[in-house]
This record gives sequence, C-alpha cells and structure tokens, in this order.
Amino acid sequence: MHIDILTLFPEMFSGVLNQSILQKAAEKDAVQYNVVNFRDFADNKHSSVDDYPYGGGAGMVLMPQPIFDGVTALKEQAKSTSPRVILLCPQGQRYDQRKAEELAKEEHLIFICGHYEGYDERIRQHVVTDEISIGDYVLTGGELGAMVVVDSVVRLLPEVLGNQESHMKDSFSTGLLEHPHYTRPADFRGLMVPDVLMSGNHKLIDEWRNKEALRRTLERRPDLLEKIELTSQQEKWLKEVKKEYK
Ligand code: SAM
Repeated sequence: MHIDILTLFPEMFSGVLNQSILQKAAEKDAVQYNVVNFRDFADNKHSSVDDYPYGGGAGMVLMPQPIFDGVTALKEQAKSTSPRVILLCPQGQRYDQRKAEELAKEEHLIFICGHYEGYDERIRQHVVTDEISIGDYVLTGGELGAMVVVDSVVRLLPEVLGNQESHMKDSFSTGLLEHPHYTRPADFRGLMVPDVLMSGNHKLIDEWRNKEALRRTLERRPDLLEKIELTSQQEKWLKEVKKEYK
C-alpha cells in the first residue's frame, strides 16, 4: 500500500509513523508513507494556502489550488489512476472498523488534512472520494484523524501483525467486543484469575471467552448485537448470559 498525506504540519507525523507497528510495517515493505506539505504546491508569491471566506465571517478557508494540484501530482508520482482520496472532516462518514477493512484492500490512499475554519467546497466536490470523521467533536486539524485512520488500516495489512497480535478476534472485527484478558500472577493481591482460564481445558476456555465477549457487548454496546447475525450456539450462550441478570 502507498499512503500519501497532505498536511501543513508534516512534523506531526514523524513520531507516529516512526514507532512500533507502523514503522515495522514500512520496514517490511507492506506500506510506504509519503508526508507532503501542500504549501509546496501553492502557485502564489507568498505560498499562501488559505484566504478569507466569501460572504464574510470568522476564520480562514483553505484554497482549492494547492490541494487540487497536490493531489494531481501525487497521483502522477504513484502512477495511480484511482486512489481513494480521503478528506478528514467532522461532517464526514463516522469512521469504524468496517471502513478500516474496506480501505485496507486499496493500493493507494491519499489523505487531506484540513485546518482553520475548513476548506473550499470545490475540494469536496471534485477531488475527494471519501469524507471521514473520527467522531462527533471538532479537532484543530485533520492530522490526528489521519493518524487514527492510517494506524487502524495499516495493522490490517497482510503480515503486518504476527500471529501473536492477530486482529481477527479484536473488538469490532468479529462484530462483538472482545473478551477480557488476564496474565500472571494468578493471585494478584487477592484478586484472582477465573479458574477456567487455568484449567487447561481448551473447550471450556473457548466457551468462557465466547460468553464473556457476548456479556461485554450486551453490557457496553448492545447496539452491536442488533447488527450481527449470531450463530445458534452464540444465541444459546447469549440466552444463558441474559438469564444471569434476572
Ligand atoms: N468549521 C468546520 C466545521 O464546523 O465543520 C470545522 C473545522 S476544524 C476546526 C479544522 C479541520 O480539522 C477540519 O477541516 C478537519 O480536517 C479536521 N477535523 C476536525 N474535526 C474532525 C473530526 N471529528 N474528524 C476528522 N477531522 C476533523
């Protein structure tokens, strides 16, 4: 996968892309990152990228020219005709694991990080394929949003996570929240690990994990249960969990 990021603050990305799994993914050649300052594409004397809004009002608006030309140049550089061009935007589609899985199948992603009051509407209309919001709150700029999306997509690329860190059972991947985890010691200041996890009985452990994932989802995110089709075994476990609350 090739990832281009258009931003006015490229330095913000160096910490995130050069650490941990995102860095290892680049070392394994699963992904290439290219962080570009779109001010470099401004065709005016002062390299301005923003201007006052037509009609008046507070704040500055990003001008179309640097972003139109930046995206064109990045497509040419990558010799790619149909990348996903993603605008980070509080008015966009709310980001979730399904969207991460969809983007992880692409070969080329271009992120546009906004700043100031917003961007000229013609950018949304003519350059962008996807508008993504990372939640119902307003950030100073799109950089943190782009980092969230890049992180969640790159960890899904083949061979980025080892078996030990597999994402298959993560919360949301299965449609449920994940079961709780425990590690040594079995007795931590009188707080005990559930006996079943130390029983060595893999069938019972698997059943416990499945039931706890259902319990957790029921307690914290019952909306998720309405969106997935449970197997008949899961239905049975869920009934048993619900009985415990009566
Ligand atoms: N005036 C805009 C509005 O009310 O919709 C908010 C602009 S915000 C201060 C500046 C930039 O931060 C946005 O253009 C966008 O790139 C980014 N941003 C802010 N909140 C975001 C969110 N929830 N998700 C993704 N990007 C966000």
